[in-house]
Amino acid sequence: MVDRVLVAEPRGFCAGVEMAIKALTWMVRVFEPPVYCYHEIVHNEWVVRAFEQVGVVFVNDISEVPEGAPVMLSAHGSAPEVVAAARDRAAVVIDAVCPLVTKVHHEVKRMADRDYDILYVGHHGHDEAIGTVAEAPDHIRLVEPDDSLAEFTPGDPGRVALLAQTTLGMHEWEAVLEHARARFPGIATARKSDLCYATTNRQEAVRRLAEQADLILVVGSETSSNTRALVRVASRAGATAHRIDTAAEIDPGWLDEASVVGVTAGASAPDHLVWEVVERLAPSEGFELVSVTDEAEYFPLPPELRGFLSALQLAVEAGFCVKTPGNRGPVQDDRSWTATRALELIHP
Ligand code: SF4
Repeated sequence: MVDRVLVAEPRGFCAGVEMAIKALTWMVRVFEPPVYCYHEIVHNEWVVRAFEQVGVVFVNDISEVPEGAPVMLSAHGSAPEVVAAARDRAAVVIDAVCPLVTKVHHEVKRMADRDYDILYVGHHGHDEAIGTVAEAPDHIRLVEPDDSLAEFTPGDPGRVALLAQTTLGMHEWEAVLEHARARFPGIATARKSDLCYATTNRQEAVRRLAEQADLILVVGSETSSNTRALVRVASRAGATAHRIDTAAEIDPGWLDEASVVGVTAGASAPDHLVWEVVERLAPSEGFELVSVTDEAEYFPLPPELRGFLSALQLAVEAGFCVKTPGNRGPVQDDRSWTATRALELIHP
């Protein structure tokens, strides 16, 4: 019997996921289906299925995209050769990479140009890690957070850089940083870390929940790196923690001894799934929001899409006088439109 539920703030959609979901929603509104998307737009089962139902085809190889079809590249960032192949093949290419991932790509290129050996802490096989490593494969070594650095032997120990996937656990990053600094005292690295604001804020919030809750439920998909990091952070803080995609995955046995349950969500999980979990828990004393910070980050739509939508709006205004020229259009109004509302449009 659950007495109380604590709901973390912030949780769920980050600015990069907001931007990517809204961008793909525009693609399905503007183009006839199918619209192609290289890799899952964001790592969430529910979101991917919702887009598939309105004609988005997710591919893992650009050669699967028919010549001349519209294609979007996912929020996790793509290898340079994938971007080039997409531009060769598709009529319209919109790259929905999160600007915070792009920042790490730039840093990889900058350090490689200066002939540094780069240690990149991330997860083998994750889309973000694959795209980042591909920026300078001859200069970069991918290590998992718990890998030993013993076998890393740079050409010049005075020219080593340490970079990271944006969604690691903060404790994992700090442990690698400590080892790397002990071995290479002059190592070049980000002033804080490459972990993004959304990752660190959600981890801080789940740590706060873990101080008070008997059980933590993290809503998000197995493929979501930041979701899995939230489970590890909660466990490390002493709570029993489980990842679930939806409320249907709650094992009633988990609730036997749980009077206070904390609920949060990875950066790609829609908020309605969180509230379905709260409803399923049916706390006898209700729920409480536990907030650690406010988030106001906003990432505009990808530049190619902004250009495309603006041109479309101009054409409509010029040809049919549907709108008064000079009125605000979808690009200008994007900030007031949320990914949740975009998903309601395609999945009412
Ligand atoms: S989790 Fe961070 S890096 Fe990833 S899309 Fe969101 S804001 Fe960008």
